[in-house]
Amino acid sequence: MRPQYKQNCRAEIRPTQRRAEAYPIRWHRTWNGYLVGCILFIAIGELHAAILPAPQQVSPHCWAWIGPYGPASKANQGYRMNLGFVVGSQAVAVIDSGYTPAMAKAMLSHIRRITPKPVRYVINTNSQPHRFFGNEVFRKAGAKIIATREAAERMHNEEAQFAASIATTLGIPPAELHAPAAPDQLLEFDHPITIALGDSTLTITPVGRSHTRGSLVVQVQPDRVVFAGDVLMAGRLLAVIPDGSIKEWIAAYQRLRTLDADIFIPGHGPPGKLSSFDHPTLSYLTLLKSHMDKAVQQGMEINRAIDQWNDAAWQGLENYTALANRNAYQAYLESQEDGF
Ligand SMILES: [Zn+2]
Repeated sequence: MRPQYKQNCRAEIRPTQRRAEAYPIRWHRTWNGYLVGCILFIAIGELHAAILPAPQQVSPHCWAWIGPYGPASKANQGYRMNLGFVVGSQAVAVIDSGYTPAMAKAMLSHIRRITPKPVRYVINTNSQPHRFFGNEVFRKAGAKIIATREAAERMHNEEAQFAASIATTLGIPPAELHAPAAPDQLLEFDHPITIALGDSTLTITPVGRSHTRGSLVVQVQPDRVVFAGDVLMAGRLLAVIPDGSIKEWIAAYQRLRTLDADIFIPGHGPPGKLSSFDHPTLSYLTLLKSHMDKAVQQGMEINRAIDQWNDAAWQGLENYTALANRNAYQAYLESQEDGF
């Protein structure tokens, strides 16, 4: 399907063409103006779309951008994560709105090449900037923003810090970047909701604290697909951060086993069956937690506990060098807090 904005341009040109017969000189000016406007409009659309490649179709209703690994940078414009959307017979739902308003505009441009259906929902899988900083673009396009209450609290509390970090990373003036307004609907842990898009249904389940507080997953039926956000990682080492919890992350992972789905789309890395995330997500978390629990129990000091942590099985993963020690450090603190 042709993008909507191209059709709009054509529709605007037609009445001007008719008037041209009576006013040839003005027509030239007006026509040129419209033509320049159209070209600019298309060029801006293409420019936005250029931040992201074309999305991949994962199932009859589900599409995803499967991003590269590594940190956000000026070169990748923050595109380093997975994002997605679901196209139902009545409406579209977007899963995470990207790192910047420009990225959200790129998402919208790509969505418009696939469907003219209205984007009615944006679901933020967690509170990190790459999951929600594009919210306002979709809100202006008519979408309702859904997140957990805990995620919304962090979005609000750290919005200035997030905006400053995005501006620094991308080299844009901080004044040009505004944090999105609060989500419109807040969900509570363990209280799933269902939304219908016509011929497909989303079940949004808050799974609690994992990579971050207030993470959620989105199950799409009848496709048997789950957008799992950063609860699942593939191909790269996951990041244990102070806002998260290894113990509760393991519980969230176990909860995914109860979902009726064949394809899980992680926050980073390629989609796959849930078992394909056992090694990069579940085993890593489980072994790291039990190592640090034992170390703390034995009264081992932190540096020795980190030295003795054997994570050779995960050394081949992307981001290993950047995150391995930080994760071990954070895991020790959590075990200490747990009181072992
Ligand atoms: Zn992430």
